[in-house]
Amino acid sequence: MTTLELTTMQEEIRGLARGRDAVILAHNYQVPEIQDVADFVGDSLGLSRQAAETDAEAIVFCGVHFMAETAKILSPEKTVLIPDLEAGCSLAASIDADQLRAWKAEHPGAVVVSYVNTTAEVKAESDYCCTSGNARAVIEAIPAEREILFLPDMYLGLWLERVTGRKLTIWLGECHVHAGIRPDDITRWEREAPDADLLVHPECGCASQAMAFASDRTQILSTEKMIDFTKRSPKKRFLVATETGIIHRLQKEAPGKTFEPVREDAVCRFMKTITLEKLRDSLRDWKHEVDVDPALAAKARQALERMVSIG
Ligand code: SF4
Repeated sequence: MTTLELTTMQEEIRGLARGRDAVILAHNYQVPEIQDVADFVGDSLGLSRQAAETDAEAIVFCGVHFMAETAKILSPEKTVLIPDLEAGCSLAASIDADQLRAWKAEHPGAVVVSYVNTTAEVKAESDYCCTSGNARAVIEAIPAEREILFLPDMYLGLWLERVTGRKLTIWLGECHVHAGIRPDDITRWEREAPDADLLVHPECGCASQAMAFASDRTQILSTEKMIDFTKRSPKKRFLVATETGIIHRLQKEAPGKTFEPVREDAVCRFMKTITLEKLRDSLRDWKHEVDVDPALAAKARQALERMVSIG
């Protein structure tokens, strides 16, 4: 697409959104042209909360399906659209509600903490939700004598065990993109970029995390905390171990600094199914609407609200 075609389509999309009273949300891992046309760019829960606070009648979520569901749970009165129903998530797909019910039955009395990357059905079976940014606070708020079932990301769970000193019972799910970031990627970059800080998402493989822990110029951070950290840091160069879409936002929000992915192929194909054409069609043809059963949404909302009450 030429620059002129791109600009023309972005203007068409903005015009359609205005006419439809819709707010466009883009996850940090979306392609740059989607991020640039969105009203808000961020992580899944932050976006859903921002959208819930707007007066817009509709939300178009440029992200994956569980994110659009979360937006619907928090804004049941709004229409929520996703431009492509194929935008799934390998991590959210690693556990369903039946599997969680069976796991709970094996651990009576345990507290269930679900990462936000889960379906509405799984959230509804959970006591607490968490994000990578607040997971530590959620775990630390649960009485020490209670068993905790943590799901679905095993690497985030292992990182939580390390930083809280708490033993968790962990579901063995993973995100194929973050699990694919290997210790070699970390050591190679540390060797080749001695002037840079390394930012590692806690979903990355535990061996990669261990390498990051071993260095004093590395940080293990959620995507939103990566943005805050790089804006405040006096450093000029950063290596980034997460999905490469975040680089565009980092460059915009911390201009004058250099950001490089530790792996160019750390790309989520589900996130990248969303294109400008599909976003335009979604607004024009009012598709694809994401619905969550109201009773299920109410239960899932409780798990999100318990998380928010922890702060
Ligand atoms: S990057 Fe991983 S966790 Fe995020 S949407 Fe893609 S598959 Fe799911």
